[in-house]
Amino acid sequence: LGELFVVATPIGNLEDMSQRALSVLNNVDLIAAEDTRHAGKLLSHFSVTTKCIAYHDHNEDGQSQRLIEQLLAGVSIALISDAGTPLINDPGYKLVRRCRENNIRVIPVPGACAVITALCAAGVATDEFYFGGFLPAKSNARQATLAKLKDVSFTAVYYESTHRILACLADLEKALGADKQIVICRELTKTFETIHSASVSECLEWIKADHNQQKGEFVLVIEADKSDNEIDEKCVELLKKLTPHMPL
Ligand code: SAM
Repeated sequence: LGELFVVATPIGNLEDMSQRALSVLNNVDLIAAEDTRHAGKLLSHFSVTTKCIAYHDHNEDGQSQRLIEQLLAGVSIALISDAGTPLINDPGYKLVRRCRENNIRVIPVPGACAVITALCAAGVATDEFYFGGFLPAKSNARQATLAKLKDVSFTAVYYESTHRILACLADLEKALGADKQIVICRELTKTFETIHSASVSECLEWIKADHNQQKGEFVLVIEADKSDNEIDEKCVELLKKLTPHMPL
């Protein structure tokens, strides 16, 4: 049996390519890539000459079957996407599932992933978070999705595109209020990386005022509201401090 390697590639900064990723890409028989032209640039940058074929959303079903047949025949394959970790809002799920059903070993080769990269620099609680992928494209559906985050106790993370970032922030303000605290993570690991934390209304003003801030790729991190427990704990602390000074 062959093996399927699920290989993460950089989300911007090419220095984030791991040694292990390079060694796997050089040693497999075949690379299945979301976009062969895009992959070609990355592979030629690292002088990887392994044969590359397309595996994308439009041919996932048929191509999964063909790749499974090759894997069963002993061919080793690496799956990569245009950027970051395959399967994370990128194709690959059907192939990985079929591999597991066919007892073909799936070997993850971890690396860059925009959601994790954003979370590790946003400065919000990360002990519990929800990743929602891309928000719906239509405003009504987007507001309805965002409204479900009212009073949740976890951090929520979404991917957003340059075309929709303004509309998305406007909907966020409508759904969760102007004071909701968010972190806009833009162009992570790239030259114009920006990580900006503020309330939704401040973020809207800031991003409207500077057109450059509307360009590029975005991860939107939405903080949970402070839980009642946290407020209670603060009150208890305050009371402890005040009690000794109270007249009997
Ligand atoms: N598989 C990728 C990963 O591991 O993060 C995500 C692929 S998804 C199709 C592309 C989206 O991820 C972009 O629209 C953007 O929201 C987010 N993204 C990817 N690279 C990014 C970066 N360098 N900075 C900010 N967001 C990024």
